[in-house]
Amino acid sequence: MAERRPPKRHPRTTAVHGGTRRSRYGEVSEAIFLTQGFVYDSAEAAAGRFEALGEDEFIYARYGNPTTATFEERLAAIEGTEDGFATASGMAAVSGALMSMLKAGDRVVSSRALFGSCLYVLEEVLRRYGVEVAFVDGTDLDQWREAVTPGTKAVFFEAVANPTLEVIDIAAVAGIAHAAGALVLVDNVFATPVFSDAVAQGADVVIYSATKHIDGQGRALGGAILGTEAFVRGTAEPFLKHTGGAMSPFTSWIMLKGLETMDLRVRAQAAGAERIARALEGHPALRRCIHPALSSHPQHALAARQMEGASTLVSLDLAGGRAAAFAFLDALEIPLISNNLGDAKSIITHPATTTHQRLTDAQRGVLGITDGFVRLSVGLEDADELIDDLVGALDSAGSRRVAAE
Ligand SMILES: *Cc1c(COP(=O)(O)O)cnc(C)c1O
Repeated sequence: MAERRPPKRHPRTTAVHGGTRRSRYGEVSEAIFLTQGFVYDSAEAAAGRFEALGEDEFIYARYGNPTTATFEERLAAIEGTEDGFATASGMAAVSGALMSMLKAGDRVVSSRALFGSCLYVLEEVLRRYGVEVAFVDGTDLDQWREAVTPGTKAVFFEAVANPTLEVIDIAAVAGIAHAAGALVLVDNVFATPVFSDAVAQGADVVIYSATKHIDGQGRALGGAILGTEAFVRGTAEPFLKHTGGAMSPFTSWIMLKGLETMDLRVRAQAAGAERIARALEGHPALRRCIHPALSSHPQHALAARQMEGASTLVSLDLAGGRAAAFAFLDALEIPLISNNLGDAKSIITHPATTTHQRLTDAQRGVLGITDGFVRLSVGLEDADELIDDLVGALDSAGSRRVAAE
């Protein structure tokens, strides 16, 4: 069978054309192969395909599907990895990547600043199966050096943490991990495929929730595991295809359409987020305004070096605590109170009572998720109109606190 190695193109070109499998009808928009199964010409052919799958052959959608394969190939080409496996959600990707490679007695070192469900998988699930999990402050390289002992199997971290926007030095942590023989798994959701070059910086496996910037329009759940062919096909796929975390072909089509506009959306949303962060920084109702493009961000220099752009998110810490945060959210007219992110619509959430509610007060305290903390995902609305709305709501939330004192 002929090699189907496409030429390497710019990510923006790849995002529109990569991986395309055109049917005999010559459709322009990618076909949705909404089929769970595939027909064989003979019993012999079925037996042969189960014995060894040829290039671009499929047997069951839990294992693979042409629309899903198009999405996997396109995203892997954008990311610069050999291969990819698409999953039903970002968490299926996180749990699948970790559980497929680990067994009882293995050691994992993880950054502590994680999305609530990621923390659950590491802290509760992996430990229940006998995996030793150590947590470090991901921004402190000395803690990584101490925790990543020889024989450590994997390190895991969010390159930009949800919701604190801490930035982790991928190259430095990868250096420490590789010296100990550990695989580097990076949850790159906040960094986005547009801004991050995690593989070039030493990541072995990159994980996305496609629900966020890849769909970018709040329609479907999805995820992906990207890495070497050996990891994706040899380690992750056998686990995922038998445990059932496959992406639906319809979702794969939604995600393909999302990839076509992802670069434009992410750059526009990040530009809006940066303008908003600069406009809000120093507002009297705020204790902190967090965005990696601000020079006040603790990893500002690292973010500028490591990523092509900063973030579509802005996090705020309101001095008036939970009452002020709730008053601020309720006073906003444009951003929606919801907990997705990376959407075309601006979305605001109060992590302490939603996405990170499961954590103890002490855990939230260590991470800096105070009662006044809010996470704003900036959408595609007019930035000036958003700034007016945000400043007005902060003014009223701030004065309410003063009135209550
Ligand atoms: C949302 C998110 C996930 C999980 O993705 P789902 O698609 O919701 O399962 C994982 N990691 C990070 C950093 C996220 O923000």
